[in-house]
Amino acid sequence: MSLAQRDKAILWHPYTQMQTAPLPIGITRGEGALLFSEDGKTYLDAVSSWWVNIHGHAHPHIAQRVSQQLQTLEHVIFAGFTHEPAVQLAERLLRLLPSNQARVFYTDNGSTAVEVALKMVLQYWFNQGVEKTKIIAFEGSYHGDTFGAMSVSERSVFTRPFQQYLFDVEFLPVPVPGKEEQTLARLQELLQHEDIAAFIFEPLVLGTAGMVMYSPEVLNELLRLCRKQKVMTIADEVMTGFGRTGKRFAMDSLTEQPDVMCFSKGITGGTMALGVTTCTQEIYNAFLSQDKTKALFHGHSYTANPVACAASLASLDLVEAPEFLQNLERITASHAAFAQELAGKEGIKEVRQTGTILAVEFEVGETSYFHNLRDVLYNFSLENGVLLRPLGNIVYALPPYCITTEQLAQVYQTMEGMRQLI
Ligand code: PLP
Repeated sequence: MSLAQRDKAILWHPYTQMQTAPLPIGITRGEGALLFSEDGKTYLDAVSSWWVNIHGHAHPHIAQRVSQQLQTLEHVIFAGFTHEPAVQLAERLLRLLPSNQARVFYTDNGSTAVEVALKMVLQYWFNQGVEKTKIIAFEGSYHGDTFGAMSVSERSVFTRPFQQYLFDVEFLPVPVPGKEEQTLARLQELLQHEDIAAFIFEPLVLGTAGMVMYSPEVLNELLRLCRKQKVMTIADEVMTGFGRTGKRFAMDSLTEQPDVMCFSKGITGGTMALGVTTCTQEIYNAFLSQDKTKALFHGHSYTANPVACAASLASLDLVEAPEFLQNLERITASHAAFAQELAGKEGIKEVRQTGTILAVEFEVGETSYFHNLRDVLYNFSLENGVLLRPLGNIVYALPPYCITTEQLAQVYQTMEGMRQLI
């Protein structure tokens, strides 16, 4: 029996209607931007799997560091104990982040990094006896699948069965070009209310919404307004972090600084599950007390797993190497040239690009996640040996930064070829 058939008999996959889904593709090996399947096919991973493998697959430097750590200390409880990889990673991360970020809290994925961020800001006010309990989030946003993260995400078919358990959130329109004034006006209106605790946002690019992009200038303005009203700001860099927007972090394009930041995905180069939430000294200080009940009551069995921290340290070696920024520039320039070439052609509604993120929105009428067009585009990409995972009629590339010029050309050719399917 093939790997795919054995899987089909007993496994349950994420975001998958198991009754109608085709057999999964059994992957046996990865190298650089390539994945190799059990039936001898090769796939160019143009989306870094779930946006995580920023340095490509099976990177030898990360593999070596992980192996070394496994033989030294694989895990230790992170309450009352600590270890070198956790401390070192926090030190190195804080050096790269906006200067106001002062404390690091570990979890194990993007959703839990967001849960912690929400708990931090809500309890920040609670500990001070201030009644601020409402969160503002962008319409269309996606912050994860746990209940708090779902609450601050767009209400959709993903969240419908759980609607009654999600807390109320004020949604703000995304300030896409032409809509900036509307967003600013709406935020000003919301900030009149005394009970707003925080504003959570995906900086510059809303990923799952379909790579929806907006400018750093308008985000600066939104953050200034929040700061004036003492509303905490949470930058969810789970997708944008570690180079995606062309800089190390999306927030590097801003002059304003957020109070809290969330990271995961690229943090270990897609090798180990790790989430990180960072915050300012001011937020941290609100939890300091002789009263034990003011502590942050959150943690996971695998919090600060040493192997995951070591993987992240190895990934940071690559992020801090000179080739990293050179690769970002190379991919950014290549995407920009292709975007210019494709824009305005028949079948293309819009081409969007921020750094290494390229999104092609195809022209169609009513679309949804379940629109058949999505499957047609997906199957076409696989038939062409490229892994692209469309969001409805939007096909995007978030390649690993080791992708070659020839491999990028193959991605573009596949996207261009999709026009004939529309
Ligand atoms: N936040 C953002 C912006 C994301 O894009 C995602 C995942 O796509 C998450 C949070 C959730 O991360 P995870 O899938 O690791 O739980």
